[in-house]
Amino acid sequence: MIDKPRFIADAMLGSLAKWLRIMGFDTLYYRVIEDRELVRIAKQEGRTILSKDNALCRSKKTGESLLIQSDKTVEQLKEVMNACHIVPDLMQAYMRCTLCNGKLLPAERSAVSTEVPDYVLQGTNAFLKCGECGKVYWEGSHKKIIDAVIVAIIEDIGDY
Ligand SMILES: [Zn+2]
Repeated sequence: MIDKPRFIADAMLGSLAKWLRIMGFDTLYYRVIEDRELVRIAKQEGRTILSKDNALCRSKKTGESLLIQSDKTVEQLKEVMNACHIVPDLMQAYMRCTLCNGKLLPAERSAVSTEVPDYVLQGTNAFLKCGECGKVYWEGSHKKIIDAVIVAIIEDIGDY
């Protein structure tokens, strides 16, 4: 089995990075980062650079990189999935914090009671908590939208 690809996204690809995290991919993103630093981290941690910067991607010094063409996040996601031969998996989604890329862990209701609004606490059984920054996630209406987008991408990419 091939290891799941890991990514580092350049500063222009914040939304793509967030979606890759939602889909369970280990993806680093910094709002401000110099190319040199981006390349250094990518090489050190074995990550593929995702970038809108043609010159950066073409440079021999850059190493493993993928030039993202589209300006639309969903299209960008498809570019990554296709280029890396990834079949997106709904089961792998919701494994990473969209804020910090930390791993999400199941949390008991009692453990999140001070961080979640009361109405959510009463009506929700499953909680996830980021092991790094502590952000709490729960199944809300936005999950259905996210699921729909992922399913659409899965269907669109199909078998290749
Ligand atoms: Zn986090």
